Amino acid sequence: MGALVAGAALLLPTATPGDLSLPAVDVDSAFGATLVDDAKRYERFFYATWILAQIALLTTLWIYARRGAGLTRESSAGPIGTGMLLGMLGLGIAWLVGLPFRLASQWWARRHDQSDLGYLDWVVQDWVVLAAEFLSICLALLVVMSLARRLGERWWLPGAAVFVAIAALFSFVAPYLDYTTDPLRNKALLADARLYERELGLPTIPIRVEKVSNDTDQANAYAFGLGPSRRVVFWDTMLRKPFSKGEQRVVLAHELAHHSQDHLLKGIGWFALFAVPGAWILMRVTRRRGGMGTPEAVPLALLVVVVIQLATTPLANGLSRRMEAEADWKALELTRDPESLEGLMAGFSKTGLGDPDPPHWAQLMLGTHPTLADRVAMARAWAARTESR
Ligand SMILES: [Zn+2]
Repeated sequence: MGALVAGAALLLPTATPGDLSLPAVDVDSAFGATLVDDAKRYERFFYATWILAQIALLTTLWIYARRGAGLTRESSAGPIGTGMLLGMLGLGIAWLVGLPFRLASQWWARRHDQSDLGYLDWVVQDWVVLAAEFLSICLALLVVMSLARRLGERWWLPGAAVFVAIAALFSFVAPYLDYTTDPLRNKALLADARLYERELGLPTIPIRVEKVSNDTDQANAYAFGLGPSRRVVFWDTMLRKPFSKGEQRVVLAHELAHHSQDHLLKGIGWFALFAVPGAWILMRVTRRRGGMGTPEAVPLALLVVVVIQLATTPLANGLSRRMEAEADWKALELTRDPESLEGLMAGFSKTGLGDPDPPHWAQLMLGTHPTLADRVAMARAWAARTESR
């Protein structure tokens, strides 16, 4: 427990000033009343499908947790093999139950010109995700079940450590496996990158471009990798209209700040702080099914993991928003261009039909970033502070 608290204390500090108060933002005047109305109507559909999909998933896994264990008698694959089969069966059922909701979301996005992806390509993508999930669950069960069969109930601590190690390894290796991006060729933006890296105390970080414009007009950028594998990726939609040079610079500074503030490493640290108690809870709850060494525990374990994930989502999103706010603050300090940050938010809302000011519960459960309205408010707060100095 003490270690968890100490870990949290180590990971919490942020460069965003603690006394920063965000001014109220009138979204209709900042984003345009028509756009706000359209975006609210557009997003409402996703909120409804999200809630229904969660209810369907939990109900399905609850039934599977009660009935699934009975299926072990049919299997002759050995305990771990049977556990993997039960894991894949549970995932497969959950995938099938979620399919109508994912399909409805894709239909809604296409209808609003937010996706140009054809249904065939969409199905292929959905299959790839399922295949990756099958692989992950087999790996996870292999780790947990073999540890539990050797160590009994003491598997949870080494089990959590293995998961954290896998997450760290994956974060480090992912950029080397990436074949979907090309180097950025925009000389002016590259020159800005070198300037910001110097100011942030970063080495040269490769800046790359991912071509998504055939599938969507939505704009995005991200930072990934650890240490020598660190990279920044722009979607090509971010490098064209309606985004100005200044707005692209803000995005660049924001992504580089994720690296200078070690946000990916801290993300792994937070994952560790969730994984340790999570594994302990899993051990305790699956006791009555014989523990994680027996395949009978697997259906219940799926339910427990999904419930833990859902229950910790508000906290995890809060931590993510805290880091995103810090990246915005650093971007303001680097670019000294609050107008561009504000323009960027209007651009995001326009190209992605994002609701600038979503309902509170939606921000709690789905908001990995501060709301667009809050990010505009931060730009204005930075400007006010700088003027008064
Ligand atoms: Zn970010």
